[in-house]
Amino acid sequence: MRAEVIVVGAGPTGLMLASELTLAGVPVVVLEKELMRRSQSRAESLQPRTAEVLDLRGLLDPLLDRTLPRGEFGGHFAGLPVELDCRPWRTRHPYPVGIPQARLEAYLEKQLVSQGVPVLRGNEVSAVDQDDEGVRAGKVRGSYLVACDGGHSTVRKLLGVPFPGQEGRLSAVVADITLASRSAAVPDTRRHFSQHIKSAAGYFGILIPIEGDLYRLMFGKLSGMGPGREAPVTAAEVSEALRAVYGSETHLGQVREASRFSDAARQVEQYREGRVFFAGDAAHIHLPIGGQGVNLGIQDAFNLGWKLAATVRGWAPDGLLDTYHTERHPVAARVLRNTRAQGVILNPSQEGNIAAVRDMFIDLLRLPEANRFISGMISGLDVQYPGLGPRMIDLDLTAQGRQTRVSWLTRSGRGLLLSLDGKPRSIGSWADRVDHVTAKTDEKLDTVLVRPDGYIAWSGSDDASLETALVRWFGPRIQPNQSIH
Ligand SMILES: Cc1cc2nc3c(=O)[nH]c(=O)nc-3n(C[C@H](O)[C@H](O)[C@H](O)COP(=O)(O)OP(=O)(O)OC[C@H]3O[C@@H](n4cnc5c(N)ncnc54)[C@H](O)[C@@H]3O)c2cc1C
Repeated sequence: MRAEVIVVGAGPTGLMLASELTLAGVPVVVLEKELMRRSQSRAESLQPRTAEVLDLRGLLDPLLDRTLPRGEFGGHFAGLPVELDCRPWRTRHPYPVGIPQARLEAYLEKQLVSQGVPVLRGNEVSAVDQDDEGVRAGKVRGSYLVACDGGHSTVRKLLGVPFPGQEGRLSAVVADITLASRSAAVPDTRRHFSQHIKSAAGYFGILIPIEGDLYRLMFGKLSGMGPGREAPVTAAEVSEALRAVYGSETHLGQVREASRFSDAARQVEQYREGRVFFAGDAAHIHLPIGGQGVNLGIQDAFNLGWKLAATVRGWAPDGLLDTYHTERHPVAARVLRNTRAQGVILNPSQEGNIAAVRDMFIDLLRLPEANRFISGMISGLDVQYPGLGPRMIDLDLTAQGRQTRVSWLTRSGRGLLLSLDGKPRSIGSWADRVDHVTAKTDEKLDTVLVRPDGYIAWSGSDDASLETALVRWFGPRIQPNQSIH
């Protein structure tokens, strides 16, 4: 079997990447070891930037009609009792959106399958070879392979790529459970994350009602490392933790799903190894606090997808593929840093110095400018790459007498030249790679060139510098006798 790009892993990262490549007309195959999709949602909601990214391709609306209630408040930093407010970032989604990870994965996979993309389940990749001609995973050959196979990435191990960082110092359990009986300490509605954190009798517990009679319970011991990741989670240990934190009247019904997680923080040093790229948890892992893992993976995929497509289709300017590493590595490094800091602040022991740091952070988060800084960081809305402008805001526009939005103009997955200054312009030889729209907005803005991943590559009104930006991101002009495929 042959595909231009082999994607290993059908988690959110792999599925988003396959979706982007398919949109660009690049043949792709997804290899997934599990026969069935996992039903447990690790992430219960999506960060604002993930919602925006999905919206840029028209993938958000079909998911919005079944969102979970968001709870009274928005996001949090380190479980502190101050709502993170993303409104200053001018987004249509100023709070986490209640779309569980499993629902996002199911939708993306269904879309791919309906477009005829092979998502081959029950296909565990156990060998990867590459040479100057291409790359091979089992019986599948391709020009490139992207390892989206999660934190324990087989591809990473097969290629001997190091995963440096910090060992886990905590072993915790996440379990989806039902309750046979409950005390008054068990919350019956979703509240701000900070209100779900409790500790008692040597345990910490976070118990959140999810859907129907299901609760998500996360727990661990306040001291000591706890069992290793591979140790099966037993109903007895869930029961013990539940009763320790929520009282002896609280009895476990069933454990539907359970696994262990840790606060290990690791990152691949180079996101590219020849024809192989690393994305999502295969490239970086961290304590799952603040809901940033899916956000990182989806945006790794969104950053890499159009660049790989441009390379396969033959119009990529020199060095375009290398910008995947230079742009995305620092973003994940920053998430590793903030999750490590959150892990310290979240420490439920409340002892001495940590309690003082918590109180100081609470005061800081109440200052609008500090709250804006942290909300931009946690939501991913503040991401800005070297030499580029910020993300393009999803402005309301009028084009050809009709109401539209930036996010309705980006669904082709191509670049977008948005003329907002009324000056006539032609996109000329780039018309096969960049859409050109003349529009009006209530705001006084220059013309902008937006990359397929929604970042501003250029803004202004000077045609010479526009041409430089077009060449930089979309390759040279195509000569009349040349063609791209
Ligand atoms: C307890 C917990 C809570 C979390 N909460 C949140 C949250 O609230 N918000 C958030 O954003 N993130 C959260 N995360 C993190 C988030 O779930 C991950 O960051 C996300 O799943 C990463 O997506 P991925 O596609 O990169 O990897 P994964 O989701 O791990 O997908 C990897 C896929 O590759 C497949 N695979 C593995 N090896 C092979 C192989 N050899 N061959 C073929 N296929 C293979 C796997 O079966 C899997 O389907 C949480 C994580 C945990 C553990």
